[in-house]
Order: sequence, then C-alpha cells, then structure tokens
Amino acid sequence: VAIEVVAETGSTNADLLARVATLPGPLLRVAERQTAGRGRAGRPWLSAPGASLTFSLAWRFKGPMRNLVGLPLAVGVALAETIVGLGVPVRLKWPNDLLRDGDKLAGILVEMQSAPDGAVWAVVGAGINLLMPDQLEQDIGRSVAAAPWLAQMERNLLLATLLSRLAAVLAEFDDTGFAPFCERWNALHAWHGREVSIVDAGRVLQQGRAAGVDAIGRLLLDTAAGRVEILSGDVSLRLA
Ligand code: ATP
Repeated sequence: VAIEVVAETGSTNADLLARVATLPGPLLRVAERQTAGRGRAGRPWLSAPGASLTFSLAWRFKGPMRNLVGLPLAVGVALAETIVGLGVPVRLKWPNDLLRDGDKLAGILVEMQSAPDGAVWAVVGAGINLLMPDQLEQDIGRSVAAAPWLAQMERNLLLATLLSRLAAVLAEFDDTGFAPFCERWNALHAWHGREVSIVDAGRVLQQGRAAGVDAIGRLLLDTAAGRVEILSGDVSLRLA
C-alpha cells in the first residue's frame, strides 16, 4: 500500500474519491489536519490537529457494488479489534461507529465508485479521537470519547498497526464478503439486547431489541411485530 501524509486537507475521503480512476493500486492518505471532514449523509466530522487520526484508504474490489454492503461493518471489525488489542476497550455501534463507554471514539465513512471494468473502488475513511480538547467537544455538541493511551503511542506505529489489519480485512472481504465477519462483529456489539430506535431525519422508523447483525451486515431488530432486518440506508441508531 502506498502512503502519503499531508499537513492539511479538507477531507481525505474527498481527495481520494477524486483520484481513484487514476490510481495504480491501494493508497493510504493521512491528514494531520482535516478542515472539512465528513460523516455519513454529509454530516460533519470534526477533529483538531494532534488530537486525532484522520485517514482514508482507497482499495479496489472485484465488485459488483451489491457485494460490498457489509464493507463498512467489516472495517469496523478491523479497527475495533486492533484498538482493543492495543488496550482500549471499544465496541461497535451499527452500522459503523466505535464506542467507548457509550460515546463515539471513531467514525467510519465508506464511499464507492464503479470502475469501467466492473470493479469497484472503495474509499474507506476513519477518524479516531485520540485526545478530546474541550472546545472540540463543545463544537461537536455532545459528549464524545477519546483514547489518550493511543495518543502516547508513536503515531507512525499506530497508523501502521491499523493499516496492516485493515488491509488484511479488505483483502479477505473481497474474497469472502461479510459472512466470516458476522460473528466477530456480534462479539463486539455495543448494544446487544438493548432497546433501540431506528431514526431517519428525527423520525422513529422502527423500535425493538437489537439482536446483532446477519451474514450480510443487516441489523436484526426484534420488534413487537417480530424480527425485522434493517439494511443501512441513511438511518441512525439511538438507545430507546
Ligand atoms: P449518529 O452518530 O448521530 O448516530 P452517524 O453514526 O450516522 O450518526 P456519522 O455520520 O458517522 O454519524 O458521523 C457524523 C456525526 O458524528 C456528526 O453528526 C457528529 O454528531 C459526530 N461527530 C463529529 N465529529 C466527531 C468526533 N470527532 N468524535 C465523535 N463524534 C463526532
């Protein structure tokens, strides 16, 4: 994997998406400072220099795109397992946030683009809070988590550790799809058995008990009317 580090950019995901058509192979782009970081549906991802890790990895998959529905969840498994292995207890919130003590420690944004030959380029972005300055938390407007323990690690070593696990997971996912990651995801599920709501633009669409994910990455929800599967569109999960 080629690696490039820049002092500042708007969004590493946006940068790589604009370039995937010309990339010869996988590329990791790391920004010391991101000024226009994005979450899903154009929501902002905020970070402060030195306080977070923000990076994106462009990776070419065999495709077709419909095989990649579970990719954001597999990325969550890769990052969460690595971070847990480094001594920070994190869990996964569907579809793809990393929580520590119930607050968001890291966010993942996967964006895709079809290539003319049927392959699919995915840009896998992650923002991980290492430290959380008060001002930043105020700007985000809710309490968030940080991992000062990781901030003490040599930064390049931390990135290399995350990258090598992530690359291994992406390569495996391309061969197998999400199925082999399902149990691993469920083992890290933050809200297993909890009563949750599926929310879209402030409206509660479904409510039920979270029962983990299935072999393609859908959230299983046990509702009063029975079990339903939620396919990640732009919906958010809240504790009910
Ligand atoms: P939600 O977290 O509301 O359920 P989501 O998981 O879909 O929604 P994303 O789109 O992945 O959220 O991330 C964007 C949201 O994350 C922002 O709306 C903001 O509330 C929150 N956020 C932004 N920056 C940070 C950060 N550094 N740490 C934690 N949370 C952040």
